[in-house]
Amino acid sequence: MILLSSRDLIKRFGGLVALDRFNFEVEARSIRGLIGPNGSGKTTYFNCVTGFYRADEGETLFRGTRIDGLTPDLVTKLGIARTYQNIRLFANMTALENILVGMHPHLKSTWIGALFGTATTRRDEEEATAAARELLAWVGLKGKGDLLAKNLPYGEQRRLEIARALASRPSLLLLDEPTAGMNPRETVEMMNFIRALRDDRGITILLIEHQMRVVLGICDRVTVLDHGVKIAEGTPREVHDDAKVIEAYLGARRAAAPATAKA
Ligand code: ADP
Ligand code: MG
Repeated sequence: MILLSSRDLIKRFGGLVALDRFNFEVEARSIRGLIGPNGSGKTTYFNCVTGFYRADEGETLFRGTRIDGLTPDLVTKLGIARTYQNIRLFANMTALENILVGMHPHLKSTWIGALFGTATTRRDEEEATAAARELLAWVGLKGKGDLLAKNLPYGEQRRLEIARALASRPSLLLLDEPTAGMNPRETVEMMNFIRALRDDRGITILLIEHQMRVVLGICDRVTVLDHGVKIAEGTPREVHDDAKVIEAYLGARRAAAPATAKA
């Protein structure tokens, strides 16, 4: 069963074509990889799916329903959650509070209830807090709920961000470079964690990842973007050995080299 699909998606920024007739499908309960050199359009695709950007052309379906044109809030409600390339936590809120923020699409209580402290609101809050603590424990942060997000080590902040995404009860989770900036040990932990998201919680994963080792280790299928164009698709092994892919990565590195030398 196909959970998410995009057809002929085009996203332009002025004269730049960030996504160029992109066709893409994510099978339910898969760990799906999206890779490509810097600036190839990966994050732009996440932004189009989640309603942060509006594609100029094409369509995107989730469970067979068109979602392009919906607001981010509605997309979340339908069951798609995401994390960001650069961690976006509320640094001065506790770990638990960060997760509670992620729950808001499902809370029944209204601002009137909050104002008058109605029984529904109090019960809602108790249930939400219990669920948040359960999530916290599940991501390995048991007992750390009262710590400020900014005081957690980097790897734990990454997992907290995922816990917050899980709070909206997604069936599809988009992870934007979750292992960026991680050391090898944290990277292996994150790989196991992503596998558990799928195996234990049944969540479909769409993963943007720059480390080929991670892609080879956990993805069922991988798509490669280069300058907004899909240049390869297949098993991680097939993609890894594809001459076009190697060229795109080497080309990107060659293009980047003079700039690095200058800096
Ligand atoms: P990736 O995630 O693959 O590194 P992005 O999707 O972030 O790449 O960016 C793809 C291209 O689109 C880049 O050239 C980037 O500069 C451009 N881009 C992304 N977002 C915007 C924006 N909001 N305004 C202008 N250009 C953008
Ligand atoms: Mg990106």
